[in-house]
Amino acid sequence: MTINRRKTRQIRVGNVLIGGDAPISIQSMTNTITKDFEATVSQILKLEYEGCEIIRFAVNDFDDAKAIGEIKKRIHIPTISDIQFDYKLALAACENGIDGMRINPGNIGAKWKVKEVCEACKFRGISIRVGVNSGSVKKEFIDKYGGVNENSIVESALEEIEILESLNFFDIKVSLKASNVNLSIDSYKKFSEISDYPLHLGITEAGPPPMGIVKSAVGIGSLLSQGIGDTIRVSLTADPIEEVKAGKKILKSLGLKTDGLDLISCPTCARTKVDLIKLVDIAQKKLDQLDLNIKVALMGCAVNGPGEAREADIGIACGNKNGLIFKKGEVIKKVPEEILLDELLLEIENMKKYNKLNKN
Ligand code: SF4
Repeated sequence: MTINRRKTRQIRVGNVLIGGDAPISIQSMTNTITKDFEATVSQILKLEYEGCEIIRFAVNDFDDAKAIGEIKKRIHIPTISDIQFDYKLALAACENGIDGMRINPGNIGAKWKVKEVCEACKFRGISIRVGVNSGSVKKEFIDKYGGVNENSIVESALEEIEILESLNFFDIKVSLKASNVNLSIDSYKKFSEISDYPLHLGITEAGPPPMGIVKSAVGIGSLLSQGIGDTIRVSLTADPIEEVKAGKKILKSLGLKTDGLDLISCPTCARTKVDLIKLVDIAQKKLDQLDLNIKVALMGCAVNGPGEAREADIGIACGNKNGLIFKKGEVIKKVPEEILLDELLLEIENMKKYNKLNKN
């Protein structure tokens, strides 16, 4: 079943389009000191390698802003500066070549300051993300709606948007994050019913893995499955590499990303007569390194295994201390358990040579 995506207007962050019919992009945020550009560049390059498509970093002072040019020379994905209050830092980030801005106009203060930022962004084609976190909803809206809920969150976001719109600025994307998954879902859904601005999805302060990944997968995944969301960031108390890996898996599990490894394996049961858990664990690590577009099925028995194994590019249906290897729907050999993995990897290497399974 394909997902019917909500029609949103399209903006860009550098060369990455967001909204409209653009693919859903994966973002992350560095946790290095931005002005330490060796550390920042090194982290961004690793994130790029994992599949990060847009990178955000905090710009806390003018040295951070000045580092943007040097960072950009050495990386290959668009950048977003995260700025809290100081409009001069926003202007400095624009001058130094930033591609996108995360700033709330309500935090900048006087309207003439917001106007300067909007003009600088417009002049350079820089889009702005405005966002509300459940922890920073204005008291006025909390009182009006009786607490922090989807109504007060959405109205806070609309207020930020209206400031930009009043200055003729429309290259906007919006986030409405809460650490509570249900509240996030309700807020994004409510907003998507009344606005066509593209949405940046995330569950804020989701915590460390595995719970942070589960919360994000449930929150981001359920919105995406309803066609809501144009770009995602999984927030984790962990190495940001884990955020990108989780983001890719969320998209992949919904069929919103088709490249990369799709590993299917069964949970094992009393019918399993090989050490499938160990086999899958080793296979996953090795296959991840091969960086291929491939669907691999590793199944524990001859009852339910052959069906899945036949559907995959390559698969194994295990028997009693042995297994049948399927390739493109046909059994190609029966091998003992000890060499099952080696034979599988050998066949995949052959497919890689002849069938162009590589990503690029
Ligand atoms: S595929 Fe076979 S071994 Fe695996 S869980 Fe299902 S019945 Fe059990």
